[in-house]
Amino acid sequence: SWLTLPNPANIPVEICAGPDVPIETAAVDELLTVLETADTLAALARGGSASDVTPRIDRVVCTPDFHKGAGIPIGTVLRTVGALVPQAVGNDINCGMRVEVTSLTIEEVRPHLDRLERHLRHLFFEGGRRIGLTADQRAGLLRDGLPGLLAEGVPAGADGAWRQVVPSDIEVGDRLHAAGYPVDSADGFRDWITSGGGTSFDSIIGSVGGGNHFAELQYVSAIHDGPTAYAWGLAPGRVVSMVHSGSLSLGHQANATGQDQARAVWPRTVPMPRNRILPILLDERSAPARERYLTALANAANFAIGNRFFLSLMMRAGLASIAGELRSQLIYDAPHNLLWPGEDGAVLHRKGATPAGGPGDDGSEPGRLWGEPVIVPGSMGAPSFLLRGLGNPRALASACHGAGRSVPRGVAARGSDAELDAFLREFRVVTPLNHRDPTVAGRRDIIDAWRRDLKQEAPWAYKEVGPVVGSLSRAEAAQPVAELRPILTVKG
Ligand code: 5GP
Ligand code: MN
Ligand code: MN
Repeated sequence: SWLTLPNPANIPVEICAGPDVPIETAAVDELLTVLETADTLAALARGGSASDVTPRIDRVVCTPDFHKGAGIPIGTVLRTVGALVPQAVGNDINCGMRVEVTSLTIEEVRPHLDRLERHLRHLFFEGGRRIGLTADQRAGLLRDGLPGLLAEGVPAGADGAWRQVVPSDIEVGDRLHAAGYPVDSADGFRDWITSGGGTSFDSIIGSVGGGNHFAELQYVSAIHDGPTAYAWGLAPGRVVSMVHSGSLSLGHQANATGQDQARAVWPRTVPMPRNRILPILLDERSAPARERYLTALANAANFAIGNRFFLSLMMRAGLASIAGELRSQLIYDAPHNLLWPGEDGAVLHRKGATPAGGPGDDGSEPGRLWGEPVIVPGSMGAPSFLLRGLGNPRALASACHGAGRSVPRGVAARGSDAELDAFLREFRVVTPLNHRDPTVAGRRDIIDAWRRDLKQEAPWAYKEVGPVVGSLSRAEAAQPVAELRPILTVKG
């Protein structure tokens, strides 16, 4: 279940693999190129670093959904010392998964699914969300995360819509990663803060974000760990909402800031690395550049937390429209594109990998006794899993963030249009385009493109989640707690 990857630089590289989870060779090749960054770090150190630690790659872990990405493979956990690597975070900074468990059961919800679907379509895609934030709320969110956003109470929306679905005791801050990453400034995003509607902040917050991002209602179909499930409020039949979204254009901007800053402090005596991966040293000279990047990173990460918060509220609002009263409790908000500066100059980067701390590691309520909640979605129409982290040092306390693709995007999609349409109906996939709407019915070009994109997201394009979860558990990275089945999926 663990493979150690031999490499010229003799860096400890551990791959979490399973018998039924093939390792993508293209990703392994890509990773071997990444390891040349060890040479880059040595060259940077010779090129005038005044820091007292020798910059190096300390350890690499590849999760079971490891696959080729842009530059650094998805599913890579990288621990460096004396340097940080913006490209090891991923473009969509703090892309992540948020899971809430509701007080409703599948039996209560099932008879009203048509109405629920219509309401969610309205909320997500037909102008129903109207999240009107003040400039102070936007700045507060980017600087402090949810506590900053909610300092003046829950944003009202145009007609008090959010206040109706958010109970006064909304939980924001007691879960690690779920509240925010406070920083001093949000100056790099002044455009977003001061401009109102248009294509800016207000119009993007609360959007799912396309591709394999989603907001999904699921129900607990099996329990694998009774005590933990009980502690987290999970019981058979219980309705759960799972949201996968990131920082939209803000993450891309912060990532670009990272690249720009790395280039700006690059010593003239050190050639640009062949693999184009540009680390930033943790030395005095790079401090201002580093701070600018880390501030932008935190701003984008906070935005992503806010975005997932609103997406969850929209799911609550949808459920409230059919059920009236409901409670919805946060289980976890798990980031999978982020970095964590640690002690002694160590920096942990996760790109498409999720934290899986053991009991007591993170101080969060659900994690304290049972281990950090690990969210592993399958794919559209397929089951997903909740696990508890085991804090395995061999795994750098990490796990995979999904089943992962088995077929790269762009490979010819299978299945007829009729099969796709039947699938979308059966699994109640809600998309921005309603192809049964008479106003789009005549637009073949739009409908064809829409079908082509959705076929790329069908379950056959992803690995089966069962064996992926099995390999996490055999590798003692995380242990399954509950299995979830989809009820309805909103795709961006
Ligand atoms: P990412 O985009 O962060 O690399 O991948 C997230 C993971 O989410 C994918 O690897 C896949 O396993 C899963 N996924 C993609 N689309 C869906 C969906 O519609 N529903 C569920 N439950 N999982 C999905
Ligand atoms: Mn993303
Ligand atoms: Mn993601």
